[in-house]
Amino acid sequence: MTLTFLGTGTSFGVPVIGCSCPNCTSADPRDRRTRHGALLGLEGGNLLIDTPPELRLQLLACGIDRVDVVWYTHLHADHVHGIDDVRIFSTRGRDAVPTYVPEEMEDELTGRFPYIFDDRVKVPRGTTRPRLALRSYKEGVPRQVLGVEVIPFRVPHGPEDAFGFRAAGLGYVTDAKRLPGPAREVLRGVEVLVLNALWLGSPHPTHFNVEEAVEAALEIGAERTYLTHLTHKVGYRELVEWLPEGIRPAYDGLVVEVG
Ligand SMILES: [Zn+2]
Ligand SMILES: [Zn+2]
Ligand SMILES: [Zn+2]
Repeated sequence: MTLTFLGTGTSFGVPVIGCSCPNCTSADPRDRRTRHGALLGLEGGNLLIDTPPELRLQLLACGIDRVDVVWYTHLHADHVHGIDDVRIFSTRGRDAVPTYVPEEMEDELTGRFPYIFDDRVKVPRGTTRPRLALRSYKEGVPRQVLGVEVIPFRVPHGPEDAFGFRAAGLGYVTDAKRLPGPAREVLRGVEVLVLNALWLGSPHPTHFNVEEAVEAALEIGAERTYLTHLTHKVGYRELVEWLPEGIRPAYDGLVVEVG
């Protein structure tokens, strides 16, 4: 399985508009972070994790020309609002794209995009809209997706939760404040772990900072851990020097083999 990091930035993206800090003006391409998205290359096809606002640009940059399944971690705008870019994959004479969403968030997603999910909304002749076949998932109930068992688990993320998952040797967690017991249970023994982290220093109410992510990573003990959802307050090189062995910052376009 290959994991491609499409976007590794927090909701503002990096560079932040109007900011002249060293990371926003860095010449290192690894300091340019679009909003959160990733792609799992599986035997049965490509699974897209979230649909961030820069989705089309990310897929073009990474040379990805097919998406077979979409998997949402939660519905914050930076993870969802590129949803229309999935349209190309359902207009090429193919079926609707299976789209997994946490059961409790299904109504919110369909309510936010009636032009996609409400059949009563008619599209004019000769125009298209994304065709997504909704499938819900629940914590602890494995789903077979593209030939792989995906096990979702709940992680606290402020007033609402987000969902991480395990797929074979990969554990993937974005937008978590901590890893509750059931999450740690599922993640036990993963080879590659992905965790969100914002910055070094003060704690944030709904996200891991880097220190908290490192603590969680060491507890899970994966061979390799990658940090994503990073802000402009931390640079790639600075992080590489700061992080313990086995934990690395991800960057847009990074491809990792799992298994
Ligand atoms: Zn900045
Ligand atoms: Zn979020
Ligand atoms: Zn987010």
